[in-house]
Amino acid sequence: MAQVMERVDVCVVGAGHAGCEAALACARMGLETVIFTVSADSIALMPCNPNIGGSSKGHLVRELDALGGEMGKNIDKTFIQSKMLNVSKGPAVHSLRAQADKAQYTAQMRRILENQEHLTIKQAEVCELLTEEIEGEAGKKRITGVRIFTDMIYECRAVILCTGTYLNARCLCGEAITHTGPNGLQSAVHLTDCLKKLGIQMKRFKTGTPARMDGRTIDFSKMEEQPGDERVVPFSFSTDPESVQKPQVSCWLTYTNEKTHEIIRANLDRSPIYAGIIEGTGPRYCPSIEDKVVKFSDKPRHQVFLEPEGLSTNEMYVGGMSSSLPEDVQLAMYRSVPGLEHCKIVRNAYAIEYDCIDARQLYPSLEFRQIRGLFSAGQFNGSSGYEEAAAQGLIAGINASLRLMGREPVILDRSQAYIGVLIDDLITKDNREPYRMMTSRAEYRLLLRQDNADLRLREIGYQAGLVSEEEYRAVCCKKEQIKKEVMRLKETMVGASAPIQEFLTRHESSPLKTAASLAELICRPELSYELLAEIDPARQKLPADVIEQVEIELKYEGYIGRQRKQVEQFKRMEEKKIPQWLDYDEVPSLRLEARQKLKEFRPVSVGQASRISGVSPADISVLLVFLEHYVPTVK
Ligand SMILES: Cc1cc2nc3c(=O)[nH]c(=O)nc-3n(C[C@H](O)[C@H](O)[C@H](O)COP(=O)(O)OP(=O)(O)OC[C@H]3O[C@@H](n4cnc5c(N)ncnc54)[C@H](O)[C@@H]3O)c2cc1C
Repeated sequence: MAQVMERVDVCVVGAGHAGCEAALACARMGLETVIFTVSADSIALMPCNPNIGGSSKGHLVRELDALGGEMGKNIDKTFIQSKMLNVSKGPAVHSLRAQADKAQYTAQMRRILENQEHLTIKQAEVCELLTEEIEGEAGKKRITGVRIFTDMIYECRAVILCTGTYLNARCLCGEAITHTGPNGLQSAVHLTDCLKKLGIQMKRFKTGTPARMDGRTIDFSKMEEQPGDERVVPFSFSTDPESVQKPQVSCWLTYTNEKTHEIIRANLDRSPIYAGIIEGTGPRYCPSIEDKVVKFSDKPRHQVFLEPEGLSTNEMYVGGMSSSLPEDVQLAMYRSVPGLEHCKIVRNAYAIEYDCIDARQLYPSLEFRQIRGLFSAGQFNGSSGYEEAAAQGLIAGINASLRLMGREPVILDRSQAYIGVLIDDLITKDNREPYRMMTSRAEYRLLLRQDNADLRLREIGYQAGLVSEEEYRAVCCKKEQIKKEVMRLKETMVGASAPIQEFLTRHESSPLKTAASLAELICRPELSYELLAEIDPARQKLPADVIEQVEIELKYEGYIGRQRKQVEQFKRMEEKKIPQWLDYDEVPSLRLEARQKLKEFRPVSVGQASRISGVSPADISVLLVFLEHYVPTVK
């Protein structure tokens, strides 16, 4: 007979990257929280690539850190190599990536959770969500608790589902199929049925991972060494940059070749993907090596990165060669790669299928439209990647807490953060495969740089209660310093005097005809804030991160100004709210497809409506006129 084990505020189902951030946010905002996982030894497990960050994912980690999340701090304590990517390009695409010691990453995150006040870890499979009808709101329910496999009940007022790749998980390595989660962990086999009974639309996705090799059996002399950066930049705005300057390990680059491709082509019929055994849809932007060979058959070779899994193991991750081919084929294909001729596989490559949801059932707060107090985040929402999961987890944690406190949720829009782009795309678009973040998805990426995430988001984290007074004051001071210095450089004029002309000539910069401001000079590609120190005796010593912002603000002023104008236009559409009770059948001259889509997804704003596929600009004009004339203004 089910018994009540405990009464808490929030239950977080899952201790992966989403669950950890969600649970820490709730507990740090003072709510009594329990976090469930099928294995307490797999907290913040990295079942795939041994790195955090990379293009656009680094932006997510910086934003999450600025809001008061944990991932940035955790990787700063456990990284073994760090690299700033795309430094030859503009600052909008500069992105940090750090190789993690996987075992230390998990251990450190577990330590943080174990010592967090108001937080309890529970190793148990959650099998059922408990709900009750909301009086006077037909078809609407609210969360009242969860039941675990031992039939014990945890009563609570909010649940955050972060089940990742575990729901009805199935792992495939050729013909060998196991009903387990990643790394052979237990699969969660009960919850999906309960979710379906609650009317939640489910989907089946898949992803894959490459083999892990015994590093002693790899010939690195046949590969290109990929060392880390000499000067490491930390992920967290709270990390002292000096504390992360330490010896690093290298990664190694090699390539597949025609022999590799032949082995794969000759065995495609034994690939669960090509034999049609796999039901789930995989990520287009993390293709398996089979997919690469079939879809990019014109390419003579594909990059393969050997990445250490940690300092206390010889295991090496074979980046770029994820697969679900049978073991014998795997061994042949890996051994055809230069440097891997004698490799030994410690863990086979495999594909994993799992249940997740259509996230269009969620509000921008990540709360389910039909079930009050039920939130979700991570791979369960149809995304892919540690960083995407952690970012959603933090927002879901903050918003579940704010809901229980009776406060307005934190909704980040597409002009404020990559997190805003991520969530808006998940809840608005018809994502038919796991969603991975990319810089090209962010319209306003020049404003959403990884270097200014603190300036954009610290205040929001502070108001939510996750950023300390000290951290908030520090960013206010930084903003002030940037503003003052930009102003000073704009107002400080230098004349065409001999010393100035000599300075300019020495730096191959064209001489001045008339007086110019220091700001104008900084904008010259061959000059920089640092170089101008020689002709700017009045300057005060400023922190490196302030100088970085001043330089970007001045050098990209035109582009930034234009993008800020676009954001004003965007915000006007986002602020046009649509009442959730609106009857779209009453809106004349809406096209049928648009009427159907709007009725189904009930966008919260005209801006969101404009991003639903099948709703045209003409439909948006019709809607705007209708809202203007026939609907009382909604605050
Ligand atoms: C084989 C494999 C390959 C991958 N390849 C890639 C890739 O190439 N690129 C990429 O970006 N990402 C990849 N990923 C995805 C990446 O691992 C995930 O994006 C990330 O881990 C998602 O984090 P999460 O918190 O949503 O879920 P997870 O990290 O999966 O954590 C889920 C948590 O939920 C718990 N749980 C689940 N159900 C229950 C239940 N009913 N009761 C209690 N606890 C429960 C589990 O114990 C676990 O703690 C791969 C993952 C796997 C497994």
